[in-house]
Amino acid sequence: MSASPGILLRVPNDTAALPGPCQLCGGDRGTRAAHAWVCADCAWRYGDVPDADLPLPRIDVVYYLRFDRRVKIGTSRRPRQRLASIRHDELLAFERGDRTLEQRRHREFATLREGGEWFIFTAELEEHVARIRSAGDPWHLYARWLSAALRA
Ligand SMILES: [Zn+2]
Repeated sequence: MSASPGILLRVPNDTAALPGPCQLCGGDRGTRAAHAWVCADCAWRYGDVPDADLPLPRIDVVYYLRFDRRVKIGTSRRPRQRLASIRHDELLAFERGDRTLEQRRHREFATLREGGEWFIFTAELEEHVARIRSAGDPWHLYARWLSAALRA
């Protein structure tokens, strides 16, 4: 750890640059609590490396992926891999939930359904996404859920 402790003591409640990127979410800001740095984005303890031999905890998410004026509402437990395989312009939001929640959303927006899991991005759907999105950046949320599950 190369950061000067003197500087840290003067601003104990502020976030500061982590000594390196967070191993879980890649975040670069954190707070220093007791003898450890804690990532400001996902609350992972800096320096703790998720055990590479153990599978990451299962976090099911419902994702909202925009492509042009359409949105795909789907679910995955491996969103990084899943999203990489779907052509899209933008990840709008994540909700924590599995197929049950996904099916509920599909019913809720049934009138906007274009085909498959794609829905027309109307003001109604935009509003819904904005509400979920107010909880935070989707990847930061995902990292926070992972972090909490790993610490449990
Ligand atoms: Zn983090």
